[in-house]
Amino acid sequence: MNILVLNCGSSSLKYQLFRMPEENVLIRGGIEKIGSDDAVHSFKTEGPEGGESVSTVQILDHREALSLVLQAVTHDSGVLAGVEEITAVGHRVVHGGEQFALSTLVTEEVKAAIRANAELAPLHNPANLQGIEAIEDVLPRVPQVAVFDTAFHQSMPPEHYLYPIPYVLYQRHKVRRYGFHGTSHRYVSSRVPFLVHRDLMNLRVISCHIGNGASVTAIQNGRSIDTSMGMTPLEGVMMGTRSGDLDPSLQEYITRKEELTQEEFLSMLNRHSGLFGISGLSGDMRKITEARAKGSARSALAFDMYEYRIRKYIGAYVAAMNGVDVLLFTAGVGENSPLLRRKICDHLTYLGLELDVQANESAKGERIISTPSSRVTVCVIPTNEELMIARDTQLLVSGLESWRK
Ligand code: ADP
Repeated sequence: MNILVLNCGSSSLKYQLFRMPEENVLIRGGIEKIGSDDAVHSFKTEGPEGGESVSTVQILDHREALSLVLQAVTHDSGVLAGVEEITAVGHRVVHGGEQFALSTLVTEEVKAAIRANAELAPLHNPANLQGIEAIEDVLPRVPQVAVFDTAFHQSMPPEHYLYPIPYVLYQRHKVRRYGFHGTSHRYVSSRVPFLVHRDLMNLRVISCHIGNGASVTAIQNGRSIDTSMGMTPLEGVMMGTRSGDLDPSLQEYITRKEELTQEEFLSMLNRHSGLFGISGLSGDMRKITEARAKGSARSALAFDMYEYRIRKYIGAYVAAMNGVDVLLFTAGVGENSPLLRRKICDHLTYLGLELDVQANESAKGERIISTPSSRVTVCVIPTNEELMIARDTQLLVSGLESWRK
Protein backbone atom coordinates (compact mmCIF):
# COMPACT_ATOMS: atom_id res chain seq x y z
CA MET A 1 0.00 0.00 0.00
CA ASN A 2 1.08 3.62 -0.59
CA ILE A 3 0.85 5.94 2.39
CA LEU A 4 1.19 9.69 2.12
CA VAL A 5 2.56 11.27 5.31
CA LEU A 6 1.82 14.97 5.81
CA ASN A 7 3.20 17.48 8.28
CA CYS A 8 1.23 20.70 7.81
CA GLY A 9 2.55 23.83 9.52
CA SER A 10 0.95 27.27 9.46
CA SER A 11 2.74 28.31 6.25
CA SER A 12 4.57 25.13 5.29
CA LEU A 13 3.87 21.53 4.41
CA LYS A 14 6.25 18.57 4.37
CA TYR A 15 5.39 15.24 2.77
CA GLN A 16 6.72 11.76 2.16
CA LEU A 17 5.12 8.92 0.23
CA PHE A 18 5.89 5.46 1.63
CA ARG A 19 5.45 2.06 -0.01
CA MET A 20 4.38 -0.19 2.86
CA PRO A 21 5.09 -2.68 4.32
CA GLU A 22 8.48 -2.39 2.58
CA GLU A 23 8.94 1.05 4.23
CA ASN A 24 10.45 2.49 1.06
CA VAL A 25 10.26 6.26 0.59
CA LEU A 26 9.15 6.89 -3.01
CA ILE A 27 9.17 10.67 -2.93
CA ARG A 28 9.72 13.38 -0.32
CA GLY A 29 9.11 17.09 -0.58
CA GLY A 30 8.07 20.32 1.02
CA ILE A 31 6.33 23.60 0.37
CA GLU A 32 7.39 26.79 2.15
CA LYS A 33 5.64 30.16 2.32
CA ILE A 34 2.09 28.93 1.67
CA GLY A 35 -0.16 31.99 1.31
CA SER A 36 2.29 33.94 -0.83
CA ASP A 37 3.11 34.61 -4.49
CA ASP A 38 6.53 33.09 -4.14
CA ALA A 39 5.92 29.82 -2.35
CA VAL A 40 8.70 27.31 -2.93
CA HIS A 41 7.90 23.68 -3.72
CA SER A 42 10.73 21.19 -3.80
CA PHE A 43 10.64 17.42 -4.07
CA LYS A 44 13.01 14.54 -4.57
CA THR A 45 12.31 11.03 -5.85
CA GLU A 46 14.33 8.11 -4.55
CA GLY A 47 15.98 5.19 -6.35
CA PRO A 48 18.42 4.90 -9.27
CA GLU A 49 16.32 7.11 -11.51
CA GLY A 50 15.61 9.61 -8.76
CA GLY A 51 15.48 13.30 -9.51
CA GLU A 52 14.93 16.66 -7.88
CA SER A 53 12.70 19.61 -8.64
CA VAL A 54 12.45 23.11 -7.16
CA SER A 55 9.87 25.64 -8.32
CA THR A 56 8.50 28.98 -7.12
CA VAL A 57 4.74 29.33 -7.48
CA GLN A 58 1.74 31.22 -6.13
CA ILE A 59 0.00 29.10 -3.46
CA LEU A 60 -2.89 30.70 -1.63
CA ASP A 61 -3.79 28.03 0.92
CA HIS A 62 -3.28 24.46 2.09
CA ARG A 63 -5.81 23.14 -0.41
CA GLU A 64 -3.82 24.52 -3.31
CA ALA A 65 -0.63 23.24 -1.71
CA LEU A 66 -2.11 19.74 -1.49
CA SER A 67 -3.17 19.82 -5.13
CA LEU A 68 0.46 20.48 -5.98
CA VAL A 69 1.59 17.62 -3.75
CA LEU A 70 -0.81 15.23 -5.48
CA GLN A 71 0.40 16.46 -8.86
CA ALA A 72 4.01 15.93 -7.73
CA VAL A 73 3.47 12.34 -6.56
CA THR A 74 1.65 11.46 -9.82
CA HIS A 75 2.08 13.48 -12.99
CA ASP A 76 5.27 15.44 -12.23
CA SER A 77 7.36 12.58 -10.86
CA GLY A 78 5.61 9.58 -12.37
CA VAL A 79 5.93 7.80 -8.99
CA LEU A 80 2.21 6.88 -9.00
CA ALA A 81 -0.02 6.46 -12.05
CA GLY A 82 -2.85 8.32 -10.33
CA VAL A 83 -4.09 9.55 -6.95
CA GLU A 84 -6.28 6.45 -6.63
CA GLU A 85 -3.06 4.57 -5.84
CA ILE A 86 -2.82 6.41 -2.49
CA THR A 87 -4.17 3.96 0.11
CA ALA A 88 -4.23 6.28 3.12
CA VAL A 89 -2.91 9.56 4.48
CA GLY A 90 -1.17 9.93 7.87
CA HIS A 91 -0.95 13.35 9.52
CA ARG A 92 1.31 14.68 12.21
CA VAL A 93 -0.98 16.46 14.66
CA VAL A 94 0.70 18.44 17.41
CA HIS A 95 -1.80 18.49 20.27
CA GLY A 96 -4.05 15.59 21.19
CA GLY A 97 -4.81 16.91 24.69
CA GLU A 98 -5.94 14.20 27.10
CA GLN A 99 -8.16 12.47 24.54
CA PHE A 100 -5.49 10.63 22.56
CA ALA A 101 -2.92 8.25 23.98
CA LEU A 102 -2.66 6.48 20.62
CA SER A 103 -2.88 7.33 16.94
CA THR A 104 -6.40 7.22 15.56
CA LEU A 105 -8.44 7.10 12.37
CA VAL A 106 -9.83 10.54 11.56
CA THR A 107 -13.58 10.86 12.17
CA GLU A 108 -15.84 13.83 12.78
CA GLU A 109 -15.31 13.39 16.56
CA VAL A 110 -11.54 13.31 16.12
CA LYS A 111 -11.63 16.49 14.05
CA ALA A 112 -13.74 18.17 16.73
CA ALA A 113 -11.19 17.16 19.37
CA ILE A 114 -8.30 18.51 17.27
CA ARG A 115 -10.25 21.74 16.88
CA ALA A 116 -10.92 21.92 20.62
CA ASN A 117 -7.24 21.39 21.37
CA ALA A 118 -6.28 24.30 19.10
CA GLU A 119 -6.49 26.46 22.21
CA LEU A 120 -3.49 24.56 23.54
CA ALA A 121 -1.57 24.70 20.22
CA PRO A 122 -2.84 27.76 18.33
CA LEU A 123 -0.06 27.76 15.74
CA HIS A 124 -0.15 24.07 14.91
CA ASN A 125 -3.53 22.35 15.36
CA PRO A 126 -5.47 24.64 12.97
CA ALA A 127 -2.88 23.99 10.23
CA ASN A 128 -3.00 20.23 10.91
CA LEU A 129 -6.78 20.35 10.62
CA GLN A 130 -6.60 22.31 7.38
CA GLY A 131 -4.45 19.54 5.93
CA ILE A 132 -6.99 16.90 6.98
CA GLU A 133 -9.91 18.85 5.51
CA ALA A 134 -8.07 19.59 2.28
CA ILE A 135 -7.47 15.84 1.81
CA GLU A 136 -11.16 15.18 2.51
CA ASP A 137 -11.98 17.54 -0.33
CA VAL A 138 -9.61 16.13 -2.90
CA LEU A 139 -9.51 12.46 -1.82
CA PRO A 140 -12.87 11.96 -0.07
CA ARG A 141 -12.70 8.14 0.04
CA VAL A 142 -9.17 7.85 1.37
CA PRO A 143 -8.90 7.01 5.10
CA GLN A 144 -6.85 9.40 7.20
CA VAL A 145 -4.96 8.84 10.43
CA ALA A 146 -3.91 11.40 13.05
CA VAL A 147 -0.63 10.79 14.90
CA PHE A 148 -0.24 13.09 17.90
CA ASP A 149 2.99 14.58 19.24
CA THR A 150 1.53 14.43 22.73
CA ALA A 151 0.15 10.86 22.68
CA PHE A 152 3.29 9.01 23.83
CA HIS A 153 3.43 11.12 27.00
CA GLN A 154 -0.13 10.35 28.08
CA SER A 155 1.38 7.55 30.20
CA MET A 156 2.87 10.12 32.61
CA PRO A 157 1.38 9.78 36.10
CA PRO A 158 -0.42 12.81 37.63
CA GLU A 159 2.38 13.53 40.08
CA HIS A 160 4.59 14.16 37.03
CA TYR A 161 2.15 15.94 34.73
CA LEU A 162 0.50 18.34 37.18
CA TYR A 163 1.87 21.79 37.99
CA PRO A 164 1.95 22.66 41.69
CA ILE A 165 -0.71 25.37 41.30
CA PRO A 166 -4.38 25.27 42.43
CA TYR A 167 -5.84 21.94 41.28
CA VAL A 168 -8.98 23.68 40.12
CA LEU A 169 -7.03 25.10 37.14
CA TYR A 170 -6.48 21.57 35.92
CA GLN A 171 -10.13 20.73 36.45
CA ARG A 172 -11.44 23.87 34.78
CA HIS A 173 -8.93 24.45 31.98
CA LYS A 174 -6.82 21.26 31.68
CA VAL A 175 -3.73 23.17 32.72
CA ARG A 176 -1.11 20.42 32.98
CA ARG A 177 2.06 19.16 31.32
CA TYR A 178 1.51 17.28 28.02
CA GLY A 179 4.96 16.97 26.46
CA PHE A 180 5.83 16.95 22.75
CA HIS A 181 8.13 15.17 20.26
CA GLY A 182 6.31 12.01 21.37
CA THR A 183 6.44 10.37 17.94
CA SER A 184 10.19 10.89 17.82
CA HIS A 185 10.81 9.61 21.37
CA ARG A 186 8.59 6.60 20.61
CA TYR A 187 10.43 5.86 17.36
CA VAL A 188 13.96 6.11 18.76
CA SER A 189 13.13 4.12 21.89
CA SER A 190 11.55 1.41 19.70
CA ARG A 191 14.96 1.03 17.99
CA VAL A 192 16.82 0.47 21.29
CA PRO A 193 16.20 -3.32 21.53
CA PHE A 194 17.66 -3.80 18.03
CA LEU A 195 20.80 -1.95 19.03
CA VAL A 196 21.41 -3.13 22.60
CA HIS A 197 19.74 -6.56 22.31
CA ARG A 198 17.71 -6.11 25.47
CA ASP A 199 13.98 -5.94 26.04
CA LEU A 200 12.66 -2.38 26.26
CA MET A 201 10.27 -3.60 28.97
CA ASN A 202 13.20 -3.99 31.36
CA LEU A 203 15.07 -0.82 30.51
CA ARG A 204 15.30 2.72 31.86
CA VAL A 205 15.96 4.97 28.86
CA ILE A 206 16.66 8.70 28.76
CA SER A 207 15.94 10.01 25.27
CA CYS A 208 17.37 13.40 24.25
CA HIS A 209 15.68 14.86 21.15
CA ILE A 210 17.89 17.87 20.50
CA GLY A 211 16.96 19.81 17.35
CA ASN A 212 15.75 23.39 16.94
CA GLY A 213 13.19 22.43 19.54
CA ALA A 214 14.55 20.07 22.21
CA SER A 215 13.13 17.75 24.83
CA VAL A 216 14.41 15.06 27.17
CA THR A 217 12.16 12.12 28.08
CA ALA A 218 12.37 9.45 30.78
CA ILE A 219 11.14 6.12 29.39
CA GLN A 220 10.63 3.28 31.85
CA ASN A 221 9.55 -0.15 30.63
CA GLY A 222 8.76 1.36 27.21
CA ARG A 223 6.48 4.10 28.57
CA SER A 224 7.12 7.82 28.92
CA ILE A 225 7.01 8.66 32.62
CA ASP A 226 8.27 12.24 32.36
CA THR A 227 9.36 14.71 29.72
CA SER A 228 10.86 18.17 29.78
CA MET A 229 8.30 20.04 27.63
CA GLY A 230 5.08 21.00 29.39
CA MET A 231 1.71 22.44 28.52
CA THR A 232 3.49 24.11 25.58
CA PRO A 233 6.84 23.38 23.89
CA LEU A 234 8.43 26.31 25.76
CA GLU A 235 9.14 24.45 29.00
CA GLY A 236 12.23 22.36 29.62
CA VAL A 237 15.78 22.57 28.31
CA MET A 238 17.29 25.61 26.57
CA MET A 239 16.67 25.44 22.80
CA GLY A 240 17.75 27.18 19.58
CA THR A 241 15.55 30.23 20.06
CA ARG A 242 13.36 29.17 23.05
CA SER A 243 14.30 29.81 26.65
CA GLY A 244 13.07 26.62 28.31
CA ASP A 245 12.53 26.76 32.11
CA LEU A 246 12.40 30.18 33.81
CA ASP A 247 11.30 31.80 37.04
CA PRO A 248 7.62 32.62 36.33
CA SER A 249 8.02 36.01 38.04
CA LEU A 250 10.23 37.17 35.17
CA GLN A 251 7.09 37.90 33.19
CA GLU A 252 5.80 40.64 35.48
CA TYR A 253 9.28 42.12 35.99
CA ILE A 254 10.43 42.18 32.36
CA THR A 255 7.12 43.33 30.86
CA ARG A 256 7.11 46.22 33.35
CA LYS A 257 10.75 47.20 32.89
CA GLU A 258 10.75 46.87 29.10
CA GLU A 259 7.13 47.96 28.57
CA LEU A 260 6.29 44.79 26.68
CA THR A 261 2.87 43.30 26.05
CA GLN A 262 2.17 39.71 26.99
CA GLU A 263 2.44 38.72 23.30
CA GLU A 264 5.78 40.49 22.92
CA PHE A 265 7.09 38.79 26.04
CA LEU A 266 6.04 35.35 24.77
CA SER A 267 7.48 36.07 21.35
CA MET A 268 10.79 36.98 23.04
CA LEU A 269 10.83 33.65 24.88
CA ASN A 270 9.94 31.67 21.75
CA ARG A 271 11.95 33.45 19.07
CA HIS A 272 14.71 35.52 20.62
CA SER A 273 15.96 33.45 23.51
CA GLY A 274 17.91 30.20 23.90
CA LEU A 275 21.18 29.90 21.94
CA PHE A 276 20.18 32.93 19.90
CA GLY A 277 19.36 35.11 22.88
CA ILE A 278 22.61 34.41 24.72
CA SER A 279 24.99 34.38 21.73
CA GLY A 280 23.31 37.31 19.96
CA LEU A 281 24.37 35.43 16.83
CA SER A 282 22.14 32.49 15.91
CA GLY A 283 19.91 29.70 17.15
CA ASP A 284 21.66 27.30 14.80
CA MET A 285 24.07 24.99 16.63
CA ARG A 286 26.44 24.78 13.64
CA LYS A 287 26.99 28.54 13.73
CA ILE A 288 27.39 28.55 17.52
CA THR A 289 29.95 25.74 17.36
CA GLU A 290 31.94 27.55 14.66
CA ALA A 291 31.88 30.89 16.48
CA ARG A 292 32.88 29.18 19.74
CA ALA A 293 35.87 27.56 18.00
CA LYS A 294 36.91 30.99 16.71
CA GLY A 295 36.91 32.40 20.23
CA SER A 296 33.46 34.02 20.57
CA ALA A 297 32.91 34.23 24.33
CA ARG A 298 29.13 34.69 24.05
CA SER A 299 28.79 31.65 21.76
CA ALA A 300 30.88 29.62 24.20
CA LEU A 301 28.62 30.77 27.04
CA ALA A 302 25.50 29.87 25.03
CA PHE A 303 26.91 26.42 24.30
CA ASP A 304 27.85 25.81 27.94
CA MET A 305 24.42 26.87 29.21
CA TYR A 306 22.71 24.67 26.61
CA GLU A 307 24.78 21.63 27.53
CA TYR A 308 24.36 22.24 31.28
CA ARG A 309 20.59 22.51 31.09
CA ILE A 310 20.29 19.25 29.14
CA ARG A 311 22.60 17.54 31.63
CA LYS A 312 20.50 18.76 34.56
CA TYR A 313 17.43 17.10 33.04
CA ILE A 314 19.36 13.87 32.52
CA GLY A 315 20.31 13.99 36.21
CA ALA A 316 16.69 14.60 37.16
CA TYR A 317 15.51 11.61 35.15
CA VAL A 318 18.19 9.35 36.61
CA ALA A 319 16.61 10.28 39.95
CA ALA A 320 13.09 9.79 38.56
CA MET A 321 13.87 6.21 37.46
CA ASN A 322 16.39 5.31 40.18
CA GLY A 323 19.05 4.86 37.49
CA VAL A 324 19.47 4.71 33.74
CA ASP A 325 20.43 1.87 31.38
CA VAL A 326 20.40 3.66 28.02
CA LEU A 327 21.08 7.30 27.17
CA LEU A 328 20.19 8.17 23.61
CA PHE A 329 20.65 11.18 21.38
CA THR A 330 18.59 12.11 18.35
CA ALA A 331 17.51 15.00 16.02
CA GLY A 332 19.68 17.64 14.27
CA VAL A 333 22.02 18.49 17.15
CA GLY A 334 21.77 15.17 19.02
CA GLU A 335 22.71 13.20 15.90
CA ASN A 336 25.36 15.56 14.54
CA SER A 337 27.22 17.20 17.41
CA PRO A 338 29.91 14.90 18.90
CA LEU A 339 31.06 17.91 20.93
CA LEU A 340 27.75 18.31 22.76
CA ARG A 341 27.47 14.55 23.40
CA ARG A 342 31.03 14.42 24.75
CA LYS A 343 30.54 17.43 27.03
CA ILE A 344 27.37 15.91 28.46
CA CYS A 345 28.89 12.45 28.93
CA ASP A 346 32.09 13.85 30.50
CA HIS A 347 29.98 14.82 33.51
CA LEU A 348 28.10 11.54 33.84
CA THR A 349 31.04 9.31 34.77
CA TYR A 350 29.56 9.00 38.30
CA LEU A 351 26.97 6.70 36.69
CA GLY A 352 29.70 4.38 35.45
CA LEU A 353 29.16 5.81 31.95
CA GLU A 354 32.21 5.52 29.67
CA LEU A 355 32.06 7.21 26.29
CA ASP A 356 33.94 5.58 23.41
CA VAL A 357 35.55 8.81 22.20
CA GLN A 358 36.34 7.48 18.74
CA ALA A 359 32.89 6.01 18.15
CA ASN A 360 31.40 9.32 19.28
CA GLU A 361 33.42 11.26 16.70
CA SER A 362 33.07 8.91 13.76
CA ALA A 363 30.39 6.88 12.01
CA LYS A 364 26.86 7.72 11.03
CA GLY A 365 23.49 6.06 11.47
CA GLU A 366 22.29 4.04 14.45
CA ARG A 367 25.21 3.26 16.72
CA ILE A 368 26.47 2.67 20.24
CA ILE A 369 29.03 5.26 21.33
CA SER A 370 29.88 3.93 24.83
CA THR A 371 32.57 1.36 25.65
CA PRO A 372 31.59 -2.31 26.18
CA SER A 373 32.29 -1.95 29.91
CA SER A 374 30.18 1.21 30.34
CA ARG A 375 27.34 0.76 32.85
CA VAL A 376 25.15 3.03 30.75
CA THR A 377 24.82 2.29 27.02
CA VAL A 378 24.98 5.53 25.05
CA CYS A 379 23.39 5.47 21.57
CA VAL A 380 22.85 7.79 18.63
CA ILE A 381 19.63 6.94 16.81
CA PRO A 382 18.52 9.11 13.86
CA THR A 383 14.88 9.95 14.33
CA ASN A 384 12.24 9.15 11.72
CA GLU A 385 8.86 10.55 12.73
CA GLU A 386 7.48 10.16 9.20
CA LEU A 387 8.16 6.42 9.22
CA MET A 388 6.42 6.10 12.59
CA ILE A 389 3.38 7.93 11.15
CA ALA A 390 3.41 5.64 8.09
CA ARG A 391 3.56 2.56 10.34
CA ASP A 392 0.68 3.73 12.55
CA THR A 393 -1.36 4.59 9.46
CA GLN A 394 -0.69 1.18 7.93
CA LEU A 395 -1.73 -0.55 11.15
CA LEU A 396 -4.98 1.37 11.54
CA VAL A 397 -5.92 1.14 7.88
CA SER A 398 -5.20 -2.62 7.74
CA GLY A 399 -7.56 -3.02 10.70
CA LEU A 400 -10.16 -1.06 8.78
CA GLU A 401 -9.77 -3.22 5.68
CA SER A 402 -10.07 -6.51 7.59
CA TRP A 403 -13.11 -5.18 9.45
CA ARG A 404 -14.78 -4.16 6.17
CA LYS A 405 -14.24 -7.62 4.61
P1 ADP B 1 13.76 20.66 13.88
O1 ADP B 1 13.51 20.75 15.35
O2 ADP B 1 13.40 21.91 13.13
O3 ADP B 1 13.28 19.38 13.24
P2 ADP B 1 16.39 19.54 13.45
O4 ADP B 1 16.18 18.29 14.21
O5 ADP B 1 16.57 19.45 11.97
O6 ADP B 1 15.34 20.65 13.78
O7 ADP B 1 17.72 20.22 14.06
C1 ADP B 1 18.19 21.44 13.61
C2 ADP B 1 19.44 21.78 14.43
O8 ADP B 1 20.44 20.78 14.18
C3 ADP B 1 20.08 23.13 14.04
O9 ADP B 1 20.41 23.87 15.22
C4 ADP B 1 21.34 22.72 13.34
O10 ADP B 1 22.38 23.63 13.52
C5 ADP B 1 21.68 21.44 14.07
N1 ADP B 1 22.68 20.67 13.29
C6 ADP B 1 22.53 20.09 12.09
N2 ADP B 1 23.71 19.55 11.68
C7 ADP B 1 24.61 19.82 12.66
C8 ADP B 1 26.00 19.54 12.85
N3 ADP B 1 26.69 18.88 11.94
N4 ADP B 1 26.59 19.95 14.01
C9 ADP B 1 25.88 20.62 14.94
N5 ADP B 1 24.58 20.92 14.82
C10 ADP B 1 23.95 20.53 13.71
